[in-house]
Amino acid sequence: MEERNQDELNEEYEKICFLCRRPESQTGKMIDMGGQFCICQDCMQKTIDAMQSSGISYQDMLNMSTPVIQDDEGGDEEEKGKKETKIPNISMINLSDILGGMGIPRQQVKKKKPKEKQPEKAFDVKAIPAPHKIKASLDEYVVGQEHAKKVISVAVYNHYKRIGTGMTDDIEIEKSNMLMLGPTGCGKTYLVKTLARLLDVPLAIADATSLTEAGYIGDDIESVISRLLAAADNDVDRAEQGIVFIDEIDKIAKKKNANQRDVSGEAVQQGMLKLLEGSEVEVPVGAASKNAMVPMTTVNTKNILFICGGAFPGLEDIIKERLNKQAAIGFMGDLKDKYDEDPNLLMKVTVEDLRNFGMIPEFIGRLPIIFSLSALTKDMLVRILKEPRNAILKQYQKLLALDEVELTMDDEALEAIAEKALEKRTGARALRAIIEEFMLDIMYEIPKDENIGSVRITREYIEHTGGPVISLRNVVPQISSKER
Ligand code: ADP
Repeated sequence: MEERNQDELNEEYEKICFLCRRPESQTGKMIDMGGQFCICQDCMQKTIDAMQSSGISYQDMLNMSTPVIQDDEGGDEEEKGKKETKIPNISMINLSDILGGMGIPRQQVKKKKPKEKQPEKAFDVKAIPAPHKIKASLDEYVVGQEHAKKVISVAVYNHYKRIGTGMTDDIEIEKSNMLMLGPTGCGKTYLVKTLARLLDVPLAIADATSLTEAGYIGDDIESVISRLLAAADNDVDRAEQGIVFIDEIDKIAKKKNANQRDVSGEAVQQGMLKLLEGSEVEVPVGAASKNAMVPMTTVNTKNILFICGGAFPGLEDIIKERLNKQAAIGFMGDLKDKYDEDPNLLMKVTVEDLRNFGMIPEFIGRLPIIFSLSALTKDMLVRILKEPRNAILKQYQKLLALDEVELTMDDEALEAIAEKALEKRTGARALRAIIEEFMLDIMYEIPKDENIGSVRITREYIEHTGGPVISLRNVVPQISSKER
């Protein structure tokens, strides 16, 4: 009876490598080390390589293998000790003793086959909500940027539909990688983060400035895929359906007049081509860099959605120049300074402009969806303060509500904050800094006095010409009842 149960267990569970934790279905045949330990061939090879490179001979290894992997019956204590001392600076532990001592049953050492756990864990691409629903969810968090939200909802919907159909027929739907342009602090990262959270897909955010061609100081390009794998808890299937957001993509534009090798510019663009298109990438599991002792796994980037974002400073001038040139020709003759004050010139971007900026055509070609986010206006900043689900104002209101104090802010006060933020030219990022500055005193003073029932923030307080309006709560009867 017991034996049959064991057989059933063996069918249900599969061996996993003790070092890299990958199941046998991924690693190929395991080497059974006895004492319920298995090691995959890759890890075994890496261990041997590492030991050889640190000067341990093959004979030493054979000697040492006995006390490490054999279980208890292998020789008396003295002999074990002798063999262990042969390896300099390495103390050997019999792992089966530890696990045995911890009372870990056999079933826990073996992992269920990934095929069985896949349906509950993997994101169901067929259940992707329709674009208008995705946009409606984004609306709850991201203020304005209607065009960007619409484009991204449709692109994401198409992308996951494409994965869902499995591409069995002759019409192959192209990947919808995106290029997002917009001034700093207008919500590019926030939009992607919100999207990934709503869809419940893993997201990796990388900064293009730190990327360099493989072999140079900096992160190599494939490190973005290891980050995605880590975001997916090392689940390759989930990672393969994830989103990679590469920020500051304008920093990898071709350097002008460079007379040395452009390792962080054009070379990075070149290196990214195959990732964007879809290729098999070898990435380390559970570590940021490749080295001999880290197990590797293969991730296919075919279904990974790449979104690149950047502020592209200077691109406006290129667009302006083109538009002015067009305007100067023929009957369409127009004023030369017509576009000088246009805050949303980025909306008029073309592929040609991006090429002039320094992006290589092959790179832009792999990002077929190009759209821009608009610069935030005063009205939008005011709305950002109070409307989103996790708006800063709501957060402070909640904090003070815990002390039973009601916080309100005059509309003029909100406008004053927005005006101050606009001056800083860092988009919505400036809002938090400003609010934090003047909320500090309030958050410090209010808990001092239990009688305070509400605080109203006025424009004068923001402009340092007055104070907030503080009203006391009617606490006298309560105190007297307590005293009684
Ligand atoms: P960037 O465009 O430089 O990537 P972020 O997306 O990081 O800017 O924006 C910074 C912060 O500003 C976000 O964390 C978010 O709280 C806020 N923010 C920016 N734009 C919006 C927006 N349109 N709606 C709501 N919040 C926004």
